[in-house]
Amino acid sequence: MKALNPRYRQSPSGQIAVALYRVTQAVQHLLRRRAEQEDLSAAQVQALIFLNTSRSSAHTVGGLAKGIALAYPTTSAVVDALERKELVERRPSESDRRTINLRLTQRGKEKSATLEDLLDEIEQAVQSLPSTEQQVLQRALQAIVAHLNRAGYIHLHEMCWHCQFFRRNAHPNDPRGPHHCTFMDAPLAEEDTFFDCPDFQLPSERR
Ligand code: SF4
Repeated sequence: MKALNPRYRQSPSGQIAVALYRVTQAVQHLLRRRAEQEDLSAAQVQALIFLNTSRSSAHTVGGLAKGIALAYPTTSAVVDALERKELVERRPSESDRRTINLRLTQRGKEKSATLEDLLDEIEQAVQSLPSTEQQVLQRALQAIVAHLNRAGYIHLHEMCWHCQFFRRNAHPNDPRGPHHCTFMDAPLAEEDTFFDCPDFQLPSERR
């Protein structure tokens, strides 16, 4: 297995590994291009996306560092820059004043919303495949992501729907919280299930 050595790149697994490498290069390119257009750095773009799409319990410098896979001091500098641009603010947590939470300002929310189409080019490429191929690709990529997560290379933040702690319609008569999270032991409103959560676990994962 030496997929980056052309002599060893004949196997399907080697070719797929290289294809995934190229997809990451394309994503980096899209990030850099959008960052230039928005007068941001690529890390600042990733930070805004993370703060816009993830559960607020992950909105600390440490949570952000995990979410965008950067070292803590680098992430802290990213937050400093976003604060200077009035896109993010640091606020002491209401439940524990020693914890500093990050919050998007109104400007930050508006800027984040403009970034939601960042992966459109990638999605268009996927949509050009027949639906049966898309389903196979989806299952295969989810298995690869789960493997990389177990190996510790990525930290998964996902929405509730495929989480082992999610109980859909556990409280069918409660319109404010029809679902339930057994991790937090709390009801979940429908809109709460759309945030990426740092406590997400695939059913097969073990801590
Ligand atoms: S742990 Fe997070 S992702 Fe899982 S059900 Fe609870 S809130 Fe949802």
